[in-house]
Amino acid sequence: MVKMIATIHEMRKIIENEKQRGKTIGFVPTMGYLHEGHISLVKRAKAENDVVVVSIFVNPTQFGVNEDYDVYPRDLKRDKELSEAGGAEYIFHPTVEEMYPNGYQTYVEVFGITDKLCGASRPGHFKGVTTVVNKLFQIVSPNKAYFGLKDAQQVAVIQKMVKDLNMNVEIVPCPIIRESDGLAMSSRNVNLTPTDRQAALVLSRSLFNAKSLIEAGTRDAVELFGVIEDNIEEETSIKVDYIKIVDFETLEEVKEIKGKVLIALAAKVGKVRLIDNIIMEA
Ligand code: AMP
Repeated sequence: MVKMIATIHEMRKIIENEKQRGKTIGFVPTMGYLHEGHISLVKRAKAENDVVVVSIFVNPTQFGVNEDYDVYPRDLKRDKELSEAGGAEYIFHPTVEEMYPNGYQTYVEVFGITDKLCGASRPGHFKGVTTVVNKLFQIVSPNKAYFGLKDAQQVAVIQKMVKDLNMNVEIVPCPIIRESDGLAMSSRNVNLTPTDRQAALVLSRSLFNAKSLIEAGTRDAVELFGVIEDNIEEETSIKVDYIKIVDFETLEEVKEIKGKVLIALAAKVGKVRLIDNIIMEA
């Protein structure tokens, strides 16, 4: 049975107890409304640790004022069932007041790589992410923490924070889980209308086309950008935020596919902002 924990105090006591018994802690931070993508992280954490903690917290500090905090989907009962089936021992689900009590004043910010890609369109987003992940790490003290490459920039930002602040946790990046038609799984997909859900398929399709071209020998980033852009333009209801071909370490744009390259995109499909990416090694 997965145990539900709502307070920092209780979570700390449990972790202290597990650690005294020599147990290793695997941690999967989420915003809930779980799907197979999240559960793949839980299963990986279970395979590599004695105890798995999943956190479910829709973190207000990582949403901009006109973003979807209020309509972000929530279903704690279902999340509990899915986490349990995935093998988690504990769900940490604090309230906003528990995490950010009155008078809260401290933030953690990674500079540089947070200015690019999603950081450029969502100012303050990564500051909210690094702050909450830092707080969660302080509370859960995990040996290993699992993050999906669906949010590739987030993985890079968290890894940078952990390195720069000498945090004693191993970050484990995990592959993107997709629906059978290619759409990257996301809690936000539930907010797509059926028509938008269909249109959204062009995002992954455009990335797979780029992948095939790279595999066939294309190295020119401008050419690949053009193919992805043309593909997405076929769906007039989609508004591209960005399409970027960048070095996976620095997130700087590249002209040529060389080494490990991240091809990332973000787009508004109806009212929903979706992201997707592929990582290619030439
Ligand atoms: P979220 O609840 O959207 O904040 O995501 C929590 C964690 O699950 C993050 O590390 C995400 O990258 C990861 N995640 C979300 N969707 C997927 C997916 N389709 N495949 C793999 N990991 C995912």
